Amino acid sequence: MRIDLRSDTVTLPSAPMRAAMAAAEVGDDQYGEDPSVNRLQADVAALLGKEAALFLPTGTMANQVALRTLTHPGDDVIVPWEAHVVLHETGGAGANAGVQLTQVGHGGLYAAAEFETAFRPPGHMIYPPTTLIVIENTHNRGGGRIFPQADAVAICDAARSLNVASYCDGARLLNAAVATGSPAASLAAPFDLVSLSLSKGLGAPIGSMLAGSRAIIDTAVRYRRMSGGAMRQAGIVAAAGSYALRHNVERLADDHANARLIANRLADCPGVGLDAAAVETNIIVFEVSDANRFVAECRERGVLLNAFGPRSVRAVTHLDVDRAACETAVEVMTTVAGELPSG
Ligand SMILES: *Cc1c(COP(=O)(O)O)cnc(C)c1O
Repeated sequence: MRIDLRSDTVTLPSAPMRAAMAAAEVGDDQYGEDPSVNRLQADVAALLGKEAALFLPTGTMANQVALRTLTHPGDDVIVPWEAHVVLHETGGAGANAGVQLTQVGHGGLYAAAEFETAFRPPGHMIYPPTTLIVIENTHNRGGGRIFPQADAVAICDAARSLNVASYCDGARLLNAAVATGSPAASLAAPFDLVSLSLSKGLGAPIGSMLAGSRAIIDTAVRYRRMSGGAMRQAGIVAAAGSYALRHNVERLADDHANARLIANRLADCPGVGLDAAAVETNIIVFEVSDANRFVAECRERGVLLNAFGPRSVRAVTHLDVDRAACETAVEVMTTVAGELPSG
């Protein structure tokens, strides 16, 4: 038995997705001649309610290109606590865009007042100028938290009035859309630029998107190439993304229901610290007395998880684990939690 809850990135392309890839019409995307890439970009622009969209190999590149597109070296960027762009991109923000990051808020969320407190105006003799705010929806390390839309609107309004750009790291934006019942375009509306991952819960093997105004996307095209992310017959992988958007969006609700099942049982388990009410989508971050030992013991019994800290563990539900597998996995997790020394 092997039930892999380490991440929704472990999802494998299905047979019909592979068939769609094999049948994809392709051309040289650097000449704008790949019909499958062009179709995906047009469809994602429409889905997110923006003028244009751009296909990139990874979400990390999408974030790095977003930073380069919307900032200048020496700028300050306001980001949520433990954002992907802070902790999971090996220092790229400093190395590539030359910006510094100021973390605000708690658990991945923040309010307009926290942005306004952290904001530094341009032209100051000492302070780095704030030129961009970032939110992450859903927030990975915060346990798949959905960013409250009212806060997103207030932050982006405040940012715009101060001439600060706005970016939503929406790697899992469709999880937020499905969980709230809000159209993805509404969630994306306050932001100048939004990303979306095709290779997580949507099940495509490769690919992320950026969407925004035509002018912003035109600039992003340059920085994608500078990052080495300008591809040729990329329609082979774009076709997987289009397949995923047609077939794998509504079913994200199943992943959320499975995460809720796991969260409710873990919250009742002695030795586990978890606020089940905070589990809103497909990610469960919980506390145990020894995360590395917990993860190793679960692995011995066929359940794969990630340690997020000395006492913190993450489980992620996705399209390659069904309800029965989640029931088995939570059985293993509660047994192992019962065997760990307390404290
Ligand atoms: C996974 C993730 C990314 C990066 O995506 P990759 O394709 O793995 O580079 C960016 N932001 C968030 C919030 C993520 O969870």
